[in-house]
Amino acid sequence: MRFDFTDEEKAFREEVEDFARTELPPDWDEKALYWPAGYGTFPGIEASFKDMYDELLRKLGRKGWLSLGWPKECGGMNSMTRHVILDDVMSYHRAPGGDVSTAIAAPTLALIASDEMKKEWLPRIAAGELRFWLGYSEPNAGSDLASIKTRADDDGDAFVLNGQKIWSSGAHIADYGWVLAKTDMNAPRYRGETLMLVDNRTPGITIRPIINICGIHSFNEVFFDDVRVPKKNVVGQINQGFYCVMLALQYERLFVGMGAFRRVLEELVRYVKETKRQGMTLGKDPLIRNKLAAMAIEIETLYGFYWRTAWMMDRGQAPEPEASALKLFGTELSRRLAGTAMEILGPCGQLERGSKWAPLRGLINLGYMDSISGAIGAGTSEVQRGIIATRGLGMPRK
Ligand SMILES: Cc1cc2nc3c(=O)[nH]c(=O)nc-3n(C[C@H](O)[C@H](O)[C@H](O)COP(=O)(O)OP(=O)(O)OC[C@H]3O[C@@H](n4cnc5c(N)ncnc54)[C@H](O)[C@@H]3O)c2cc1C
Repeated sequence: MRFDFTDEEKAFREEVEDFARTELPPDWDEKALYWPAGYGTFPGIEASFKDMYDELLRKLGRKGWLSLGWPKECGGMNSMTRHVILDDVMSYHRAPGGDVSTAIAAPTLALIASDEMKKEWLPRIAAGELRFWLGYSEPNAGSDLASIKTRADDDGDAFVLNGQKIWSSGAHIADYGWVLAKTDMNAPRYRGETLMLVDNRTPGITIRPIINICGIHSFNEVFFDDVRVPKKNVVGQINQGFYCVMLALQYERLFVGMGAFRRVLEELVRYVKETKRQGMTLGKDPLIRNKLAAMAIEIETLYGFYWRTAWMMDRGQAPEPEASALKLFGTELSRRLAGTAMEILGPCGQLERGSKWAPLRGLINLGYMDSISGAIGAGTSEVQRGIIATRGLGMPRK
């Protein structure tokens, strides 16, 4: 057992730190607020940051850092460990270390797509030229994805899509949808769905904003009205879309914004050291010390899940219950951290960003609301517990 990174990995972390310090705009710390494991405050999803984010992705692409975790034969480095180091550092700086396309879609494509499809898509994704959104959920299908109604009818060299997706994070700033649709209406559950890449510019697509609880446009409803999708855009095999989605979800569950946890803890520690209440420095209050020590332990525990999941992937193992445990623990810790921060800050914690009295620039108010969402997206906590019980503990499904 070895609880350390190699010298190369340590040097890589330094390089990423330098990159973040040099390439992020000087006022980035003022502008960007991001709550760990919260989907709704991620700056990369906000339209106002789109140009800056796109440019940063292209710079990461030029360094070869968007494909670190992909297999070597697909242009990657076969190192999920480096990938999570990058993500740890960049999320500490509240900046992107990748996108749905680079971190979720591309590694899935690398495993299951045809050679032709890999050649067409992977180089552009690695260069940071394409951004994707995930088109799984529908008004009547979330945890139970087999209930989707969006259909893709066979029409020669294309499928014709009709239906609606919802909670589509970032569809408004992305280029392509990673969309699950029914291709065989008579097949048993999980056997008649197909995953396909859908160009947002195709006629018949309407994207309507949904404003999240933090007042940010992060979600969308997406409507398909006779949208033609070339069959060459099918990911994996026709009618085996579920298998592809399950693989993609493993990659998605790895992204809890690890560095952002570290960052929030550091900011809270600084705050209690610098702030006095009724003549006493908050950092001397035993209750506050206990609360922050408890958070530090939990964050360290989460790091354990985080590094181990990446380590397993580097060894070709499929971390199914492990990825679920990481996602579950991370997103629920995000809520506990927000609750703890709110208790420490007291009524001031409720002040919104923009208020000159808001401690930590309003981050805690925003985080408290955003932290609700993480434990729902990419499979709810109940669904993760179900996976851990069946895949991890070998218990029967029902
Ligand atoms: C911040 C955020 C971002 C999202 N982004 C996207 C996105 O980009 N693309 C996309 O397609 N979707 C996205 N979603 C949607 C998300 O995937 C669904 O909300 C989620 O899968 C839950 O589905 P639902 O909302 O329909 O709730 P339901 O599935 O109806 O669940 C309702 C409740 O029942 C429980 N439940 C359901 N099934 C079970 C079960 N088998 N065992 C035990 N309990 C169960 C759930 O845990 C939950 O508490 C996002 C959601 C959030 C919150």
